[in-house]
Amino acid sequence: MSDYLGNERILIRGGTIISVDEAVGDLPRGDVLIDGGMIVAIGVNLPDEGARVIDADNHYVLPGFVDTHRHTWQSVLRNVASDWSLGQYFQGMHFGMSSLFRPEDTYIGNLLGRTEALDGGITTMLDWSHNMATPEHADAAVAGLLDAPGRSVFAHGGGAPQWQVPSGVPHPRDVLRLQEQYFSSENQLVTLQFAARGPQYTTPEIAESDWELAREVGTRITVHVGDGAWGKNRHVVWMHDRGMTGPDVTYVHCNMIDDEEFRIIADTGGSASVAADIETQMGHGWPATGRLLDVGVRPSLSIDVCSSNGGDMFHAMKTTISTQRALDNAALERNGLSATDAAGLRVSCRDVIEFATLRGAIANGVDDKVGSLTVGKQADIILIRASDLSMFPHNNPYGQIVYNAHAGMVDTILIAGRVVKEEGRLIGTDVGRIKQLAQETNDYLFAEAANKDLIRDASRDGHWHPRPVVAS
Ligand SMILES: [Zn+2]
Repeated sequence: MSDYLGNERILIRGGTIISVDEAVGDLPRGDVLIDGGMIVAIGVNLPDEGARVIDADNHYVLPGFVDTHRHTWQSVLRNVASDWSLGQYFQGMHFGMSSLFRPEDTYIGNLLGRTEALDGGITTMLDWSHNMATPEHADAAVAGLLDAPGRSVFAHGGGAPQWQVPSGVPHPRDVLRLQEQYFSSENQLVTLQFAARGPQYTTPEIAESDWELAREVGTRITVHVGDGAWGKNRHVVWMHDRGMTGPDVTYVHCNMIDDEEFRIIADTGGSASVAADIETQMGHGWPATGRLLDVGVRPSLSIDVCSSNGGDMFHAMKTTISTQRALDNAALERNGLSATDAAGLRVSCRDVIEFATLRGAIANGVDDKVGSLTVGKQADIILIRASDLSMFPHNNPYGQIVYNAHAGMVDTILIAGRVVKEEGRLIGTDVGRIKQLAQETNDYLFAEAANKDLIRDASRDGHWHPRPVVAS
């Protein structure tokens, strides 16, 4: 038994249950009983004896969302890059802003980003943490996750010294120290992964030696592939030839990889992370959802950078389904057909909810604990309010969640059976303090950027556009 598990007996009563578990199915009106942090029963008219009752009437009850890739530190630079291309992002962020971060800036970035994600219903979030120039920055990144409510994966990804690409600088061995200091057990709310740069961002020698370090750490590995033009060089084939692929790897983006690379990911049991909002905005290439499904890989979803896009899963689900449906309809048209000739839409709203929950839990290595409403799993559960005018009347819960709901409708959240959000308000979180710290960090970073001539002045009016880095 872990000390993070809730000790209350809780009955979530009378909600529309979307379990994301084939065996459980979905219930138009049902209950979830929780005890000792675990889901102990799912059914209709469960007894409320000895339980605190949460009234879920007019609510959708589902497993919390799981984000499989977010560079959380960038939340303190919110939306600065919303009009930047991928090349401008690398110039402005990795060759610019990231080097200005002090450990305390990384801390508040993670505290803000993790808390914001939770507020919108993301109960598990992978922090693809790649702004750790020093061990102190890494400690601060971990502290930000530990101080925020929610289940997190700290994916250790180096810092500015490692991200001057193509890099000949090895991944910091500090990851071993962090593992010993913070991640001695898998049985805790914050766990460890290795965020590798991979051959797309390093010299071949460094890609291989980084991987050896990753396998020494022994956790799952997450790596970007196929994002933008520099992702066209068949890096997945290269990795496969060197024994670097496997079921312990999550491939982030996958936009520009070729058919053989998709087959390798499928054949080796890899996971994928689609970040459709950022990919369509910056020009990574089309989201790979359909091509992954073609080879039998059901993707997870991710947010990527809150310096550009929004930080909640509703945006991610909607962009994922919209782009795939647009691609599918465009393909029909190219073949001289129209949407009226289609037998149906191949990606359903229910599929996308599964991507946003269970598939994320698998990629984050926590599907034995969470990702679906299943008896025996820990109770990471969200209640989405379905009583608003825009959600009425109720005909298709999956469609309402994907196309209609938003982060402001996430009413109640449980993490491991503990209520962390109730009636729309986070419990035990000083939101005012987080905002104040985030503003101070934001002011500091822009003042420093102006001092160092990175930007014209310290104004934040959306006019700063870095010179792009050109892909090689
Ligand atoms: Zn990324």
